[in-house]
Amino acid sequence: MAAGDLDEAGVLSRLQTLIRIPTVSDADPAVFDDLLATMRDLYPRVHALETVRIGRQGVLIHWPGASAARPVVLMAHLDVVPAVGEWSVPPFSAEVIDGQVWGRGTLDDKGSVAAICEAVESAIADGAVPAQDVWLHFGCDEEVSGESAPAAAAELTRRGVRPWFVLDEGGAVAEQAFPGVSAPIAVVGLTEKGTTTLSLTVTGEGGHASVPTRNGPTVRLAKALTRLDTLAMPAHLPEPTVELLRRISPYLPAPLRPITANIDRIAPAATRLLPLAGAEAAAMIRTTFAITTLEGSPAHNVIASTARAGVNVRVMVGDSVADVVTAVRKVIRDDGVIVEVTEANEPSPVSPMDDAFELIETCVEELFPEAVVAPYVMMAATDSRFLTGICERVFRFTPFRMSKAQRSAIHAADERIGVEDYRRGITWYRRLIESLPA
Ligand SMILES: [Zn+2]
Repeated sequence: MAAGDLDEAGVLSRLQTLIRIPTVSDADPAVFDDLLATMRDLYPRVHALETVRIGRQGVLIHWPGASAARPVVLMAHLDVVPAVGEWSVPPFSAEVIDGQVWGRGTLDDKGSVAAICEAVESAIADGAVPAQDVWLHFGCDEEVSGESAPAAAAELTRRGVRPWFVLDEGGAVAEQAFPGVSAPIAVVGLTEKGTTTLSLTVTGEGGHASVPTRNGPTVRLAKALTRLDTLAMPAHLPEPTVELLRRISPYLPAPLRPITANIDRIAPAATRLLPLAGAEAAAMIRTTFAITTLEGSPAHNVIASTARAGVNVRVMVGDSVADVVTAVRKVIRDDGVIVEVTEANEPSPVSPMDDAFELIETCVEELFPEAVVAPYVMMAATDSRFLTGICERVFRFTPFRMSKAQRSAIHAADERIGVEDYRRGITWYRRLIESLPA
């Protein structure tokens, strides 16, 4: 990369400045205004481009390229989850300790916002013009499934933009990602499970706790939940998972290699065995159910006339929300339990591994030669799902190296990014932009 404005100290201090603005999703809008104004100051060339306000406080920025035939969208989100847990440093301090910047949002996802801005700012300073139109979308409400990303999709549609590919957060250059594999795996999400919420409600006799009757709403709900806890939807081994196993095969301990190398032929056995490897492996191949909220009586001496539970469902590629409802009703075996879908999201379409994927892959190989590049199915939801309606190739990848400890700090305490890893991420985004084909 040419020198441009990518001065070493400035890069770090700009990231710290953004982390110190606590844009928790439900924060006062003034906090987001502060962030947006600060970004305008820190990245003046980026913000001299056409910038449209999207949703409440998201932005869509248009960087015209030499061609508008194959536009690309780079996405990241400005909001962060609350700083829960016991932090070793104040969560919005952005302190640098042992070569890492600590703070909420360093990995999820302000680090990407800043890295994308650094890459574009320095490219513009160097007089670069991308071969294709580049759109940046920074949403303000990803963590609360807000309006920003759907509004960005609507705005792009209104302008007749059909992206060649979309790149959002998701996978990373993950260390210790697979038992037995010592090389980091750069996982690129080709699809994501659908996040769906069910409500289970039982209504019946309430009353005074001194004259209880058997099998009231609370007990019927409890029985339903106990049965739901045993539900295992059919296992699926979708193509991205098969390809992931195939690609990491050479790095696995020798006895496992024949299994993963021939994974497509032994898929039925693999789908039976994978759940035995633990909850994470089980979540890779099937729809999961997590019973989250519970409501019943508000008082010790009152029997609830209504009992209700919330169930968070992650719908596997290959299943649908309708399949889920059918399976839940069947396992519960009680028509008195009303099953309602309160939020429905189908799994996202699977992006093809064609030229756009290969471009991302090549850039990863150049900047992270130590890593194995592989596709995967993302378990969590991202804003990019809202762009699958206007784009066939939606990839979920953050170009940062992350240890296992760092990955588990996302949405928890002690989130932090390595300073060198952050710099490499900036270079990666810049390489991606410079590698867009004419
Ligand atoms: Zn995120």
